[in-house]
Parts: sequence; structure tokens; C-alpha cells
Amino acid sequence: MKVRCNICPHHCNIEEGHIGLCRARTNREGQITSENYGKLTALALDPIEKKPLAHFYPGSRILSIGSYGCNLKCSFCQNSDISMVGGDEIGIQETTAEEMVQKALLLQNRRNIGIAYTYNEPLIGYEFVRDCAMLVKEKGMRNVVVTNGYICEEPLKQLLPFIDAFNIDLKCFTEHYYHELGGDLETVKRTIEIAAEQSHVEITTLIVPGKNDTNEEMEKLSEWLSMISPEIPLHISRFFPRWQMQDCEATPVERVYQLAKLARNKLLHVHEGNC
Ligand code: SF4
Repeated sequence: MKVRCNICPHHCNIEEGHIGLCRARTNREGQITSENYGKLTALALDPIEKKPLAHFYPGSRILSIGSYGCNLKCSFCQNSDISMVGGDEIGIQETTAEEMVQKALLLQNRRNIGIAYTYNEPLIGYEFVRDCAMLVKEKGMRNVVVTNGYICEEPLKQLLPFIDAFNIDLKCFTEHYYHELGGDLETVKRTIEIAAEQSHVEITTLIVPGKNDTNEEMEKLSEWLSMISPEIPLHISRFFPRWQMQDCEATPVERVYQLAKLARNKLLHVHEGNC
């Protein structure tokens, strides 16, 4: 019997023993189960600025963990070695939420403020993020989610009380390019609006030459963001050739600076990234 997953708008109908589009969720005995629960592919104590979060506990560090899989298929993915694979194609380290929180606590003496769920798309591993986040909160530490924002409203709202800060990708401001990436603009806009009501939110837009780099698109994007709040920080990042776009040129540095200058007409905190 097929079972529908309700974490993201793909709503995969998964047959028993099969795996969803993100390669992280399966149907086991009629239940949707997180296949990547507690399976880490990356773990590091990173500066908070690397998430990137420029206005949330600056100068601190955060224990950053990642698993595998993703529910979008961006041809420019900068982390494809972990996001575009299943669990049988990559080395993993198994852990528990309790172990992660103990580690986070022990690292407080190295300026750790909590746990960041990052590197691949963390919200497809929803249950592990939720279980860690609840324990982290109990210990008085902070939770950070770095996400593509492609999640359904209900699971997002249930997680929100435990998340102190988000960095959300706003990959472009056109539906047609979002569809090419396997998502949709309206869902990501709604995620940003909902998250910004309760948590600290910063946005990242990776500028891909010829895809999302026009003045007009940046004007529309920054105008829309400023209507939520002109204080939301926007990170405008430079693309480097990766995954299926290895034969493309990196974004010219001056283009990133020009777009950041435009965005500053609407927003108070605009940061150039990877320049
Ligand atoms: S989270 Fe994964 S399995 Fe669930 S609907 Fe999205 S892509 Fe499909």
C-alpha cells in the first residue's frame, strides 16, 4: 500500500520499502519513516557567520551537523556529495539526539551556542531535527536551521517554537526557475513569512549567471522581503561551478556587488558572500 509523505509539497506517494524523491524518507510497514534519522555525514564546530548568520550571536560558534538527501534538484548544488546521494552511497556516522546534545553542551567552553542543522536539506530529516531541537531547548541552548524552505506549513509550524534562527535560501524570484530546480517560489515565500513571525531569519540568494542575476529580479526580491521587514538580512552569494554546472563560469564579483547595492535600496542589511 502506498503512503503519502506530508513533509514537503512533493507529497511523494511511497510504496512499501521504496524511497521518496529526497532519498531520505521511506514507507516501512505502512508508516512514513525518516531513513536518515541520526545518520550524520558531516559534523563541525563552525563560526556562526559561516551558516551564514550575520546578526545572530556574532562571534559565537555552533555545532553544525548534516545528513544526506535533498528535496530540490538544483543543478548548481554546492553540496551535491551529500545532498544528491542516498544513505548507501556515502559514509555515515550513527548518533542519537541525546549524544548530539551532550556534545553541544561539552563544546560550550569553545563558544558553542547550540546546534545548527545544515549542509544537506535538514527538514527532510524532520524527526531528528525535532528531537534534537527539543533537547537543545531544554538545556537552554540555541537551534539554527539552514534550509531551502521547501516544507509544508503544518510541519513547519510545529517545529517553529524550538527554532531560534533560520537561514532560508531564496534561490530566485521567478516561478519558472524555481520549477527548474524542483520547487516553487510561493512555498518558499510562505516559509519565510511564517518563520519571520517567530524566529530570527536571514536569507541567502546564490547568484547564478544567466539564471537569476538581473537587476529587475533583485529589485522585486528585495522589495518583497522589505515588506516583511527591511531588517531581514540578505546574503547575496557568488556561485562557483559545481555538480551539473561545472562547465559554467563563477559569478563575476562585480555583479554580486552591483546586485547588493541595488538590494540596499530596500533592505538595511545586505551582505556579499563568497567574494
Ligand atoms: S520530504 Fe521527501 S519523501 Fe517527503 S514529500 Fe518531500 S521529497 Fe517526498
